Amino acid sequence: MSVRDRLNKFNQQLPENVTLVAVTKTFPDEVIMEAYNAGHRHFGENRVQELINKAATLPKDIIWHMIGHLQTNKVKFIAPFIDLIHGVDSLRLLRVINREALKNERQIPCLLQVHIARESSKFGFTEEELIKLLEDIDLNELKNIQITGLMGMATFTDDKKIIEAEFIALKKLFDQIKQRFFKDKSYFCNISMGMSNDYKIAIESGSTIIRIGSALFGDE
Ligand SMILES: *Cc1c(COP(=O)(O)O)cnc(C)c1O
Repeated sequence: MSVRDRLNKFNQQLPENVTLVAVTKTFPDEVIMEAYNAGHRHFGENRVQELINKAATLPKDIIWHMIGHLQTNKVKFIAPFIDLIHGVDSLRLLRVINREALKNERQIPCLLQVHIARESSKFGFTEEELIKLLEDIDLNELKNIQITGLMGMATFTDDKKIIEAEFIALKKLFDQIKQRFFKDKSYFCNISMGMSNDYKIAIESGSTIIRIGSALFGDE
């Protein structure tokens, strides 16, 4: 099946409020252009260097998502153009993004990453840390970022019950946080969860952004 056919198949089954981010890490520009020429615009990368190389040469109307772990010293390279940063996992990183966004005279949308998986290796805030952060920060001091939601990655397992429980917990946390900190903020509306192996469960659990690599482009 071609990339175009796979994209069509995805788009047919996606609810209207769910955005598909095509994850193109390790894939060359030609592969991205295949999806682009099929009308796709949302692309995700997990490494800054690869992202900036691709953004420099590919069409300017691509909507770029930084989905990987982001180091503070690399923020400046993507601040001029990045459309959404998914994995914000510290107050320090939020502050640096705010500063670099200000330098570029723009506002950068960010998702706060929550650690929902059982593996200790995955990044993100615990629920308690996240709530503490939101209690402590003054969003008015961070005028150049916009926190538009949460992101999470489920445990890498075949056990659908575990994945489902983690996604439902993230959705519940999102609802709580929305109610408590972003009640009148319509921009706080995104839950980025779901990859090739678990996007169906994620959508059933309330995902609004799925990040799909191998199901669209194969395993490299
Ligand atoms: C690679 C990656 C994806 C896509 O994974 P697939 O299983 O290939 O769909 C999604 N999110 C993040 C953060 C990734 O690094």
